[in-house]
Amino acid sequence: MQRFLALDLGGTKTTAAVVELQGRDARVLHSASQPTPAREGANSVLAASLALTRRALTEWGGDTDTVAGVGIASAGVIDPQRGLVTHATDALPGWPGTELAAAFTGEFSLPARALNDVHAHGLGEALYGAGNGHPSMLMVAVGTGIGGAIVIDGHPFTGFSHAAGHVGHIAVPEAEGVLCSCGRTGHLEGLASGPGIHALYTRRGGQAVDTKEVAARARDGERLAAEVLRLAGFATGRVIGGLLNVIDPAVVTLTGGVAQIGNLWRTAVLDGIEYDAMDVVMNTPVLDATAGVEAALLGAAAWAGKDI
Ligand SMILES: [Zn+2]
Repeated sequence: MQRFLALDLGGTKTTAAVVELQGRDARVLHSASQPTPAREGANSVLAASLALTRRALTEWGGDTDTVAGVGIASAGVIDPQRGLVTHATDALPGWPGTELAAAFTGEFSLPARALNDVHAHGLGEALYGAGNGHPSMLMVAVGTGIGGAIVIDGHPFTGFSHAAGHVGHIAVPEAEGVLCSCGRTGHLEGLASGPGIHALYTRRGGQAVDTKEVAARARDGERLAAEVLRLAGFATGRVIGGLLNVIDPAVVTLTGGVAQIGNLWRTAVLDGIEYDAMDVVMNTPVLDATAGVEAALLGAAAWAGKDI
């Protein structure tokens, strides 16, 4: 059994926790959350993160002698070997160049490692969620954006530039001409993310406050809402089908707000997979994620324990 400090740092919210790892089990012993002071700049975000982590440890009642290291899951592109932020979006201004792992080692005198938050989420899901017991997993997260993670034999595949897993930025015919958050057009995320689904519904003449309302209308039998969910799910499935052809993971896990939207969307995803996946990989199990909102914290802790 080993205990770690873990941090999940996003553009709007940061959570720090004490995590216990024991074989195939992991659990959060205590956690503390606060809004990320993103507008105040990188130094403020880092200082707030260190203080929050200290607070989680103190509230739990332990000290640095009782934990083996620190694992940090952060938004942005993170070099997992150096624990360094190499790129970030405007959600965290000034974040690139931040030496995350070194800062936490300096503060706590403990070994520290950092990983992109989606990669950490995938690692947590692979080790302690629906991927547990499977040799490889492709996680697809469909929510405000569309992201993903590939975990092979308990290791996240992060890529040469540490940017692997951007499932939302694959072109799909259904998204042709639709603007994506990355500035290109035709990518899955612009069409089939939560905001993408809402925008599609609006473009087709519907009026709804948000994607949840579109989903509720589809459940109530409204034809336009159902068509929109079906198209978004089908396009998502097509992209997953293509990825199965390339990666051939043992299982796929679906997570994120849109992934919980209901059976209509899920059935469309499976139809999309069937449409594009080759016969040999067509029946890859598609599982609902089970590691929950703590997945990134569990993955960060596991990452901290890899070399310690
Ligand atoms: Zn894109």
